[in-house]
Amino acid sequence: MKTRQEIKLMILAFATTYKENDSNNAKRLNEIADLIMPKIVDLVKDIREILKSTSDENRLEIFGNIMNGYCKHCGCDNSKYAMGCQCWNDD
Ligand SMILES: [Zn+2]
Repeated sequence: MKTRQEIKLMILAFATTYKENDSNNAKRLNEIADLIMPKIVDLVKDIREILKSTSDENRLEIFGNIMNGYCKHCGCDNSKYAMGCQCWNDD
């Protein structure tokens, strides 16, 4: 099991030696993803546990922060639209 610091160094090494069209990019990214994914799963579990003991108002605030910049109806990137996504608008 790699430590947080070792994973950070792998990401830093990837970022500093990245070359476009390098055939090793996908392999290196997959190695990093395999190390990070279990930590993300644990993080989501922790967040869901925290949400259980949070007020409805605070949950809405948390979800609002997570969804900031994305349409809360369809999930698209709102920055693509001057007035935000209009997917909900039947007119
Ligand atoms: Zn939308």
